[in-house]
Amino acid sequence: MQSPVKNMDLAQVGERAERARAAQAAWLRYTLTQRVRAVRGLWQFLQRDRARLIEVIREETGKPVAEVEAMEVDAAGLILRHFTRRVHRLLQDQAASMPWLLLNKRAYVRYVPRGVIGLVTPWNMPFLIPFGDMVPALLAGNAVLLKPSEWTTRTALYLEDRVRASGLFPDGLVQVIVGDGALGAEVVRNSDMVLFTGSTATGRKVAEAAASRLVPCVLELGGKHTMVVAKDAALERAVKAAVWGRFANSGQICVGVERVLVHEDVYPEFCARIEEQVRALRPGPAGAYEQDLGRLIYPHQLPVIEAHLADARERGARVVGGEVDRPGQRVSPALVFDAKPEMKVMTEETFGPVLAVMPVRRVEEALVLANAGRQGLAASVWTTDLERGAEWASLIEAGLVSVNDVLIHYAACSLPFGGVKDSGLGRRHGDQGLRMFCQEQSVVIHEWPSNTPDLWWFPYSRLKSRLLSLLARFS
Ligand code: NDP
Repeated sequence: MQSPVKNMDLAQVGERAERARAAQAAWLRYTLTQRVRAVRGLWQFLQRDRARLIEVIREETGKPVAEVEAMEVDAAGLILRHFTRRVHRLLQDQAASMPWLLLNKRAYVRYVPRGVIGLVTPWNMPFLIPFGDMVPALLAGNAVLLKPSEWTTRTALYLEDRVRASGLFPDGLVQVIVGDGALGAEVVRNSDMVLFTGSTATGRKVAEAAASRLVPCVLELGGKHTMVVAKDAALERAVKAAVWGRFANSGQICVGVERVLVHEDVYPEFCARIEEQVRALRPGPAGAYEQDLGRLIYPHQLPVIEAHLADARERGARVVGGEVDRPGQRVSPALVFDAKPEMKVMTEETFGPVLAVMPVRRVEEALVLANAGRQGLAASVWTTDLERGAEWASLIEAGLVSVNDVLIHYAACSLPFGGVKDSGLGRRHGDQGLRMFCQEQSVVIHEWPSNTPDLWWFPYSRLKSRLLSLLARFS
């Protein structure tokens, strides 16, 4: 079994933050075009040794190579292309309109970098999440302190090393903080903004710490994707989506499908087909493109998965799969048929290769169940009636919804990505996913006449008040 890294000294975080601030002062002098060139150059530099990058991630996580390529590396490229294309339009000064009364003044908004951005990230996507959040933070003119999970630090250190070796950035602009949650808390104490990705419980602590310093924080937290399958759904696609949406990344995806609520008319067929599909998933050979399943990245997730499966069995569900290989840190894909709303697999985030399936009499019943919990990250509805599908989707309390699709929002990065309720606060990606890394500075310039006081300044008089009221009414 792997072990976590050793902690850096807490004092080193403050020193690194100082270095990051100095680097950011130099980075600030780069024009937007120069920043874009540097970030694109880094991507090309990484691509030149793509095989090594893939191997570093694969070794650390045990993921299938096809998943490392598509979900970690190529998806990161989509994010980079999105932001580098949009950055000029989004971060150049934006002219603001003025009321007629103020026509002799000009106004605009400037986007000023915040300084040092703390990125605190989980273990499930050790390259995609840090890189995908680092790119807009840098393009916006900031430095980055990255605190990866103590279980996936090697990938982050490789990224830090590549940033340095590329020679494209001021020294110290991107630094990795090595260690556990105490180090994460120290990063929050030393940052001007925090983008946190992880569990809801830790997210709350980060939010409290950020609030006490009055620095903004964006929280991307856990989810419980509910898939609602109507009786007119295209069943083959729905079954395949449920299998991929749950067992991709071996179930360790925040937007991964955790429970499927299937109309009772198609439930038996859905169950038969999904069992067949899951049996066909291949655990190896490791390193080959023909591998579908990896291992658990975080060993302490195993007891959570076991507890959820035991609870489901005790409460009368039929469980298929779920065999545990402790030394190999693996759980075979598990299907929990005839799940009940009160089971852990239906209420708590499992974050592993376990899929709960439950029949419902009506779609409306499924929508009520989907909204019952505190999670609100992702959900999907499955029907061939696209209009009704869009309507059902609009009734679900989640930040990310889809009709006949799963796990697609992260790659469609012009869309804001994030959750509601206990699944998060704020959004990454989309236009605000770049602008949030800046302070908005509102600028007003008085243009003419140059030497005349404004009407509303001292001294007041009845005539001036009347005139002002009249002008304000027509503005
Ligand atoms: P955790 O909340 O345990 O940890 C996340 C990060 O926070 C880690 O780097 C961790 O360090 C660090 N940390 C721990 N305590 C503190 C603290 N007090 N202050 C600051 N940082 C701290 O989450 P996991 O790593 O277990 O990740 C899994 C969770 O992430 C799941 O719930 C999943 O749904 C969610 N997630 C959400 C995504 C989204 O976009 N909404 C995307 C991906 C995952 P260390 O690990 O070293 O202890």
